[in-house]
Amino acid sequence: MKWEENVRRVVPYTPGEQPKKSGVIKLNTNENPYPPAPGVGKALAALDVEKFRLYPEFPEQTELAEALAGHYQIGTDQIFIGVGSDDVLSIAFMTFFQSDKPVFFPDITYSFYDVWADVYGIPYERKALDADFQICPADYCKPNGGVIFPNPNAPTGVLMPLEKVEEIVAANRDVVVIVDEAYIDFGGTSALPLIDKYDNLLVVQTFSKSRSMAGMRIGFCMGQPALIRYLNDVKYSVNSYTLNTAALALGVEAVRDEAYFRDCCRRIIQTREKAEEELTKRGFAFPKSYANFIFASHKTVPAREIFERLKENDIYVRWWNKDRIDNYLRITIGTDGQMEALYRALYEICG
Ligand SMILES: *Cc1c(COP(=O)(O)O)cnc(C)c1O
Repeated sequence: MKWEENVRRVVPYTPGEQPKKSGVIKLNTNENPYPPAPGVGKALAALDVEKFRLYPEFPEQTELAEALAGHYQIGTDQIFIGVGSDDVLSIAFMTFFQSDKPVFFPDITYSFYDVWADVYGIPYERKALDADFQICPADYCKPNGGVIFPNPNAPTGVLMPLEKVEEIVAANRDVVVIVDEAYIDFGGTSALPLIDKYDNLLVVQTFSKSRSMAGMRIGFCMGQPALIRYLNDVKYSVNSYTLNTAALALGVEAVRDEAYFRDCCRRIIQTREKAEEELTKRGFAFPKSYANFIFASHKTVPAREIFERLKENDIYVRWWNKDRIDNYLRITIGTDGQMEALYRALYEICG
């Protein structure tokens, strides 16, 4: 068909499977196994449907921005909120990666980065992680059009110490450096305190993992007001009313209940530590994880086989048929009960 000559062709991102059937133990998309803070349910019940007639608050998103600003001790002009951090990251790619020079990111990382770069026509270069899946800061200290990496990295769970993050930000004052902290609440140290010192640093976080709100689609980023203004200019040029009225109201409750949030993260970290022991006993090796998942490889049984056999047992984990990582499984940390079922199944499969 002739019109196909004018089509923007893309190879889309592939998310983990969301099974239709019930009873699946879902350890494949890094969702939180615990429900959102109790206040979220109460706020949902109290939502005034009559208000749905009106467009959501725009552009300020006052209440949610103020809740976040209070929690992170920054100004509301240092926060940009989007429909999940995927939305925030996509707008950030569009806004800040305009150079002819390549944007740098790791070869093993969140598989959306190259998709956005491709769709927006941004040149990029992947920098290889070392044999221990660590990012080598020196690789990022060469001329580039911007830098992005998750910390902790996905799907490895490996955390980069803050000094190394700062080394990369400091060496790249002429471009924007984006640190994607989707998993930072599970034991890492956020780069947030560095935003005062570096006007080129953007720190991205999400409600999807540590705040149990993946389905509500709320993400945000923090940086100096100039960065935030540029993001808003692009956002308001593409699609302005994106966060819906319900998400804005419920998000506030997820931020306010700090005690619940901390307890939830603590439980997941505890279960992760237990999982490290259990997986080691069953012959798995893995880098130390600072996220809500473990990236594990078995000494003898191929990852693909374990993945398929677990799936037959209605336990879903993530496996990629990709260079360097095709003998690894990414296992999301579930409840203790879900993990016990996983250990039992692994005992059958791996001995
Ligand atoms: C999950 C994830 C995101 C995006 O999550 P949203 O649900 O869109 O907020 C971004 N980056 C990384 C590394 C992730 O794992």
